[in-house]
Amino acid sequence: MDNVKDINITTAEWRIMRVIWTLGTATSRELTDILGESMGWKSATIKTLLRRLLDKDAIKFEKEGNKFIYSAKLQETDTIELTTKQFFDQLCARKIGTAITSLIDESELTQDDIDSIKEALDKKSPVAEIKCNCLPDGCDC
Ligand SMILES: [Zn+2]
Repeated sequence: MDNVKDINITTAEWRIMRVIWTLGTATSRELTDILGESMGWKSATIKTLLRRLLDKDAIKFEKEGNKFIYSAKLQETDTIELTTKQFFDQLCARKIGTAITSLIDESELTQDDIDSIKEALDKKSPVAEIKCNCLPDGCDC
């Protein structure tokens, strides 16, 4: 996907994506069976979420008889970039360093993960100052 950073996917829509990634393809009936049970969602809710994901170009469908078979256009690997971007978009630029430290503190990491984080830090060039990007008046940083 070219414009993966511009897609905004809601928490509910992620649940649909996770089922489709796990199954490879899914009908709305399968999604309703799985998410109806785990989330208590009605089939109308799932159809709305599927429609939104189609509009966002995150999934596609093929018609087979009277069934719609959904599959992912947005790949699971693309979502690392996307969810990270969405997460950091919610924070003032000045608080991102603290958020990264807290993510590391709270995450289970393998030695490989730790090595690659250290390598990324070693390559990182610091900036002298970070400008606050909060809304005017909405900021105490
Ligand atoms: Zn700020």
